[in-house]
Amino acid sequence: MAIATPQAPSSARDATRRSVAGSVRAPQLSASRLTTDVRLPELPEHIDARAYDGASLLRETVAGARLTPHGALWLLEHADTEAIREAADTIRAGRYPDSRATFIIDRNINYTNACVIKCTFCAFYRLPGSPDAYLRSMDNIIERVDEAIAQGATQIMFQGGHDPDLRIEYYENLFRTIKSRYDLTLHSLSPSEVHHIARYSRLSISETLARLKIAGLDSLPGGGAEILTERVKREISPLKNSAAMWIEIMDEAHRQGLRTTGTMMLGHVDTFRDRVEHLIALRDSQDRAHAALGPGTGYRAFIPWTYQPDNTVLGRSVPGRTSSEDYLRTLAVSRLVLDNVDHVQGSWLTVGKATGQDSLRYGADDLGSIMLEENVVSAAGVVEKCMTNDAMISLIHDAGRLPARRDTTYRVLETFSKGDSGFVANRVHA
Ligand code: SF4
Repeated sequence: MAIATPQAPSSARDATRRSVAGSVRAPQLSASRLTTDVRLPELPEHIDARAYDGASLLRETVAGARLTPHGALWLLEHADTEAIREAADTIRAGRYPDSRATFIIDRNINYTNACVIKCTFCAFYRLPGSPDAYLRSMDNIIERVDEAIAQGATQIMFQGGHDPDLRIEYYENLFRTIKSRYDLTLHSLSPSEVHHIARYSRLSISETLARLKIAGLDSLPGGGAEILTERVKREISPLKNSAAMWIEIMDEAHRQGLRTTGTMMLGHVDTFRDRVEHLIALRDSQDRAHAALGPGTGYRAFIPWTYQPDNTVLGRSVPGRTSSEDYLRTLAVSRLVLDNVDHVQGSWLTVGKATGQDSLRYGADDLGSIMLEENVVSAAGVVEKCMTNDAMISLIHDAGRLPARRDTTYRVLETFSKGDSGFVANRVHA
């Protein structure tokens, strides 16, 4: 299957020139609705190696005891890697005894790269008014959706910069147009984009989500979380919404019946304590969703990936990538902490196919998308640039798992078994 490589922004017809950067003054959302405190003041920066017996801690966790923040920090700092891996894999196998590992075909359409947020880890954005800032035309977007459908995509992600010229009507028109032409899922707009739309459209978060949902938004990806502590946010993305606001937007999305995913970008200025606070904030948010709305609500999946430093401001002070072992340990601990989130997704884009394949032994039950298009993370120099359908199926099969293509809801559409002349698709759902 042909895969589109990450694409440079735009033909001339696709580029829309912008007004002077920063010329639009952003209204502030009231902070009075922010009730979520993501800090864990009692959690130390480090924890004594003698504080826990690792074997007991992991045995109890696998048996169903909820991992405390202190226990999670201890595991990240001190536990034997193989022991964490085995515990996470046992939990994964208990949830999915058919040994499936799923993936999805989708396309991430970055409708604009114009952005005023200036995250220091981002190599994708251009300031509004820059010669290479673009806003894709509707015709161009429809072409991209057509290409995605032709390759079997069931989901489209719209994710882009925080463009001060766009208001909610732009997104409503976009979603309505796509939904009127195609039967596919719109898994689109990170909480920080929702925050931006609300600010510039002078709407509450609640009104913004409600209107987007009516226009066709099906679910929200968890982009823009990075690390959900205010210290890290201040350091790497000071103009972005706070960690508390990210959680608040997800809580509101859940209240409105929208499913979401949680993410983490790790391996930059974050400490193990930051990662634990992030995981606990997600777990608490999911608890609130389940308490108020019942099972089958809230976050569908957790997706960690690693920071990519190339071409970024942050790359000057943090030039290196974290190790595969650090990524896999964090992934495994995520599976152990997030006992109320169904799926954990391994990344192949940022850590490479081999480590992506390894993630299936560290608690991951999904390898995400074959990504017909990805521009944001790729701009910062990813390890892998593309993955074909066949390569994904082989990768999963060679890991000893059952390759299964899914939709956004994680419903399995088809599984793949190896025949004499390649893989054979076995249809499960149309
Ligand atoms: S990560 Fe998103 S919000 Fe931050 S600068 Fe890049 S495009 Fe803008």
